[in-house]
Amino acid sequence: MKQSFYDLNYSDLEKIVTQNNLNDSAASVLFNWHYKKKETAQCVDKIAKCSVAFFENTFDFSLPEIDTVHESNNDRTVKFLFKLKDHHKIETVLIPFHNKYSICLSSQVGCAMNCSFCFTGKQGLKRNLTTSEIVGQFIQAWRWLAANRPREERILNIVFMGQGEPLHNFDAVKKACEIFLSKHGTSIGVQKITISTAGYIPGLKRWSQEIPGVNLALSLHSPVEKKRNELIPINKKYPLDEVLATIDQIPLSKKQFITYEYILIKDFNDTPDDAKKLGTMLAGKSAYINLIPFNAFPGSHYQRPDLDKIEQFKQVLDTFKIPTLIRTAKGDDVLAACGQLNSKNKIAIRC
Ligand code: SAH
Repeated sequence: MKQSFYDLNYSDLEKIVTQNNLNDSAASVLFNWHYKKKETAQCVDKIAKCSVAFFENTFDFSLPEIDTVHESNNDRTVKFLFKLKDHHKIETVLIPFHNKYSICLSSQVGCAMNCSFCFTGKQGLKRNLTTSEIVGQFIQAWRWLAANRPREERILNIVFMGQGEPLHNFDAVKKACEIFLSKHGTSIGVQKITISTAGYIPGLKRWSQEIPGVNLALSLHSPVEKKRNELIPINKKYPLDEVLATIDQIPLSKKQFITYEYILIKDFNDTPDDAKKLGTMLAGKSAYINLIPFNAFPGSHYQRPDLDKIEQFKQVLDTFKIPTLIRTAKGDDVLAACGQLNSKNKIAIRC
């Protein structure tokens, strides 16, 4: 089986060009063609015919196939179900803001973290995605926008908040980030990429060494050990205080901060006392808190708190002077909101 072209970062491509005595410019021409122009056809830019023939014969240029597209009726959110070569399915979401989009990418088929509030975790981990399957989600979503919402094909932010634990599939995610960042291709700014983690310490340590600058979001969800153990089982192996200590060692630039995500679940972690403990834990850090009211999914037993409870929680955090945002759910009519992604769920269900 041929290797996917989309598994190569720029330096891999340069090495291949040198080893095969191809024209020096081939790497930049090809990256530009496939990642900047996002062309579907064979490259006909300024590149020697023999180089084109070499790449066509050596590499696979296919991408994950779009199986189904769900467009939200409430906002402009789009959820894609992709079919992979081995027939596994994964989901990707385009989240609108003005006429631009953030893209929420999946990093694994299913997830091993088994968080009690998350629909994806209910599937268990099937396998890691390859780099080409990760960058493929981006390219296919971009092409869909170009074809279906012309002049709206602006994807400004990339968040690894879809299915899977990105730091548990570190190598493929890292290479995908390198491809997104490459100035020869999509040239996405380092501050525009965010990796969200449940607190997988081995990956966090590698992240700080190998892809510093890419933003980090920690799914915190409760400052109380017993409650976090229930929500995020890997907290028993990698407890929150160790996760926070690992994050504290990561050098941040002046403009950079860590996002702490906090799902608000009715009568579980939504009291002013929880907010006070959270504020005390994060006070003085370069922190930004995202409050995510729990999104229901078929079979979930948790509930979302009432709006006044959510606002009260934020008010307590405000007293700690930590910037806090209440994240409004987008695309929840097509189960595209946080934690509602589950590729077995082929039909959009209104919750
Ligand atoms: N494994 C990574 C990324 C995937 S989840 C992580 O744990 O961070 C992305 C975000 O969605 C996380 O903050 C996650 O906790 C949140 N999320 C998961 N299920 C949710 C649900 N049902 N309602 C609201 N947010 C949810």
